[in-house]
Amino acid sequence: MTASDSLAAGGLAPAASPLDYTPPAAPAASRPVLTVDLDAVAANWRALQARSGRAEAAAVVKANAYGLGVGPVARALHAAGARTFFVAHAQEGAELRAILGPGVPIHVFNGFLPADLDAFRGADLIPVLASPFHVRAFREALPALRPTAAPRVGLHIESGINRLGFTPAEIDALRAEPPREFDISLVMSHLASADEPENSMNARQRGAFTGRAQLLHGLAPNARLSLGATGGTLLGPDFHFDLTRPGVGLYGGEPFAEARTVVHLHAPLLQVREIAAGDSVGYGATWTAKRPSRIGVLGLGYADGFFRLSKGLQLYLDGRPVPLVGRVSMDMITVDLTDAPEPAPGAMVEVLGPNQSVDDLAKGIGTTGYEVLTSLGPRYARRYVGGAEG
Ligand SMILES: *Cc1c(COP(=O)(O)O)cnc(C)c1O
Repeated sequence: MTASDSLAAGGLAPAASPLDYTPPAAPAASRPVLTVDLDAVAANWRALQARSGRAEAAAVVKANAYGLGVGPVARALHAAGARTFFVAHAQEGAELRAILGPGVPIHVFNGFLPADLDAFRGADLIPVLASPFHVRAFREALPALRPTAAPRVGLHIESGINRLGFTPAEIDALRAEPPREFDISLVMSHLASADEPENSMNARQRGAFTGRAQLLHGLAPNARLSLGATGGTLLGPDFHFDLTRPGVGLYGGEPFAEARTVVHLHAPLLQVREIAAGDSVGYGATWTAKRPSRIGVLGLGYADGFFRLSKGLQLYLDGRPVPLVGRVSMDMITVDLTDAPEPAPGAMVEVLGPNQSVDDLAKGIGTTGYEVLTSLGPRYARRYVGGAEG
């Protein structure tokens, strides 16, 4: 899909340039507009590839590319040069296979459970097996999957986070009874505290990973090793091994501080009203005007994934902060425009963009950029700019 296709589909006017995106003067409709800058995604992947040194930077596109739309995002990443992909669920893997076509390695972080068989069938997915149960289940599924050659699998080994992965005892058991029907192409683990470069846990996990991966060398002589996600990529060459697995950094999130802004979210101004000192705004009358005030009503609410607990947040009108007042309701929020230049109904107010990153918003409400991204709702008009495949 090209940028113009997606714009035509959304019925929206194209931005003048994807690089200096400015909100549309008037909304296409009375609903919020989510703009995803695919050139920024591509640039972030290239920057993380450069930061990965001699290792290959894969692309993690689980959870619908962190909420941004896996179709356009995965195509833009592939066009930028990404050649190895990761998702969380088998179903996401099957969807990604339909998007990328044959040949591109797609790994499934969540391993393999018997119920994943249908999603795996015909999708040529690489499960990252994380337990003896996964190994048995995948072995039993092989007749139904009818692979032409030894199917590729990854192995997830535990190194300190205690989520998924083989324990040392399970690694010993695997070595005693090697799964010869598989081609183990990847041995990986995951860091618990990679966003804290000073945390000594990083070096401890690296040591555990290196030692345990060594034990698997006889079983998996050709396996590539992988430890770092975005945070691990930024920890430097000791954490790169053969393959890095950035996700959130591709989408402009911390800890990749140099990331280009990917997500722009604008809410339309539906109505402007003047209220007197002492008047209250919104459900529960939780905010009362201390002076005569001009209130803007914006068409965006918690049904769009906007956080109901957003007290104290600012939005931006023409680059000027406008404070959120009153409660977030299902389809609307209200802002104090008293100190802003008189706006026209239809003006677009920035929720996310150059003035407010996903992490800025996350800090305002006590969560992470990951949660802000993956909470972006399905009700937005979505536009994709850039990313035209050359
Ligand atoms: C989600 C995930 C990643 C990507 O992590 P980011 O912090 O978003 O870069 C990498 N590896 C595993 C195992 C993951 O679950």
